[in-house]
Amino acid sequence: MTRFDTYAMIDWSGGNDTGPRPRRDAIWACLATADGVQAPQYFRNRELAEVWIATLIAQELAAGRRLCIGFDFPFAYPKGFAQALTGQADPFAVWDWLETRLSDSPKENTRFDLAGEINRTLGAGKGPFWANGLRNRDIDGLPRTKQDYVNPFPERREAEAQAKGTFTCWQMAGAGAVGGQVMTGLPVLSRLRKRFADAVAVWPFEPLTRPVALMETWPSLIADVVNEELIRQQDAGLAPVRDALQVQLVAGALAALSGDDFADMVDVDAPEEGWILGIGHEAKLADAARKSLALQKAALPSPPPLTNDCFALPPGVDWTPVDAALDRLRAGLHAVTGQETLHVTGALGRVLAAPAVARRSHPPAPNSAVDGYGFAGGADTGGHVMELLAGRSAAGVPYDGTVPSKKALRILTGAELPEGVDTVVLEEDVALSGGHVAFNGPLKRGANTRKAGEDVAEGEIALTEGRVLGPQDLALLSAVGVGTVQVRRPLRVGVLSTGDELLEPGTEAGPGKIYDANRPMLLGLIERFGHVAVDLGRAADDRDTLAECLTRAVTDNRVDAILTSGGASAGEEDHVSALLTAEGAMETWRIAMKPGRPLALGLWSGKPVFGLPGNPVAAFVCALIFARPALSLLSGAGWAEPMAFDVPAAFEKRKKPGRREYIRARLQDGRAAPFASEGSGRISGLGWANGLVELPDGEAHVRPGDPVRFLPYGSFGL
Ligand code: AMP
Ligand code: MG
Repeated sequence: MTRFDTYAMIDWSGGNDTGPRPRRDAIWACLATADGVQAPQYFRNRELAEVWIATLIAQELAAGRRLCIGFDFPFAYPKGFAQALTGQADPFAVWDWLETRLSDSPKENTRFDLAGEINRTLGAGKGPFWANGLRNRDIDGLPRTKQDYVNPFPERREAEAQAKGTFTCWQMAGAGAVGGQVMTGLPVLSRLRKRFADAVAVWPFEPLTRPVALMETWPSLIADVVNEELIRQQDAGLAPVRDALQVQLVAGALAALSGDDFADMVDVDAPEEGWILGIGHEAKLADAARKSLALQKAALPSPPPLTNDCFALPPGVDWTPVDAALDRLRAGLHAVTGQETLHVTGALGRVLAAPAVARRSHPPAPNSAVDGYGFAGGADTGGHVMELLAGRSAAGVPYDGTVPSKKALRILTGAELPEGVDTVVLEEDVALSGGHVAFNGPLKRGANTRKAGEDVAEGEIALTEGRVLGPQDLALLSAVGVGTVQVRRPLRVGVLSTGDELLEPGTEAGPGKIYDANRPMLLGLIERFGHVAVDLGRAADDRDTLAECLTRAVTDNRVDAILTSGGASAGEEDHVSALLTAEGAMETWRIAMKPGRPLALGLWSGKPVFGLPGNPVAAFVCALIFARPALSLLSGAGWAEPMAFDVPAAFEKRKKPGRREYIRARLQDGRAAPFASEGSGRISGLGWANGLVELPDGEAHVRPGDPVRFLPYGSFGL
């Protein structure tokens, strides 16, 4: 059986930790199955990648799925090397040898030292390895260039001779070199192979009879498809990361291949040097990549539907703690909005649907941070006099000449540093006379200048997927040359009030009637949360009317989600819960919190309905605590945690254990003061307050001055 259920492709890196932001030279990985291809993920270092791979293997094994993992580096060295190094013509002996000797951490590793050591033993210090990537340290036995280089082994493996453009595994540094990847990659594979000894087969050295296979692949076999797609995405105003696209296309291609084609590809005989999966089958691989791409594009605009059990709570739970309820919402919901491409200037408040990659470095060129005089090399302590050249460098109008050593040029803030200038002295610190500038050192080389790309380098991810674009983000995107962005369509949220007693604000009120206070409030909250609010009006306490209102709301996709208020409990007039229960996709959550009564959560024709309590104070608090993060997730912006901080209490209060409490509070003079009445009928307290104090689930006795958790309205976007 050669087919697999899941295909993972990994683009390895021999370098050091690349930092928290996804970069093009980080490690990239992507998963694909017959159902589709996932978004590529990146890892800033090998340690994290190894953990991810091990977890993936364990998960797939536990789920009974067969997993194929491709790596983009050679699994073995050319013929004769294994024997010379380990005394056995066995690639796994080399894996072992390297695993024992390489020391590797996110910040540094010993790959160059190890290459030097092997060269000294096997090649009189002249080969087989060459190129030292350490600028500041010579390695004994590792030549920096190919001058005087002698290689006792074949320069290439048989597979590499057939794959045009591959680098040899002997080259340890330089653009595109794979030597470092082999040396840092094989120890990881060796560990994985031992850890999952009965489950892992390494192709083509072992038969594919185990549930997990490790295979050598090479994305350049489908370079044409990668390049076409890169250009297409760039033309669409996106800035794709090549490595990310490569893993996505290779994983997708492997998953899209027919069983027979895949069987042909793995049928090779290369017991010592290994092989590159797909050599000789490039056209089939490219076809499969295109097929997978077409499927991905077709799948793009419609996110998967929510599942009927997305609001299901574990059985047997009576009162659900707030955190458990939040965890459930977080796990059950996902983005439901489609995508579109917008110009940056029109994208305020929108959610990024894909990472925005810098198309240009910021700043694009080294420039001056001040108005002053530029020269080279910094200045020692003491007085300096330099001849002042004619001309100047200004922002947008660079000086097009070279500034000779020991001479200075007038330079203005933001102006590019001309050739020959790397240091600027502030104009306030110089005296000008007779065509010379005089000033006192010391001044460090590079003083008062900005390096090219010191803010963001070209190719770096400037903003990640899910980011809600603020004004500050529009500045960054513009600065790094991003003109259009792929964003989510706005989430449309309908608001419906229920209750026979409700009247439209401003109308004549008869006995027994009250004005609908919730609908204007909830419509306003939704706008402040950053979504589109859709007014669905009021519904009487009557099941048919309510059903009609909900159906009208979801017809033609008028809304993506609905907030109702009132009728959410289990009483005789509580039709929201009754109706949703009858429709079969409803859960009533009794949440251990004050204020708040049960929340009714359900799906109406696949659209989530959040049935909030009728009491306006409870509706407000539940909207902030539950609806806001859930709507954020639906909108594609991820779970939205409010910002909170501890402040001293300006009150005393005892509370019993068993439920969390939210108190309308005002932060004044650095202390949190509660609203005069805790009664949940008092709407005026909502406006008096400027935030909520959150008291924990357990028993508490708060005394004046004790720290309490304060959630300012501002952190909910209000
Ligand atoms: P219910 O959850 O429907 O039992 O309503 C609880 C309380 O909130 C009742 O006193 C209702 O009259 C009141 N209420 C319900 N909906 C609204 C609304 N839209 N505006 C103001 N009060 C409401
Ligand atoms: Mg009611």
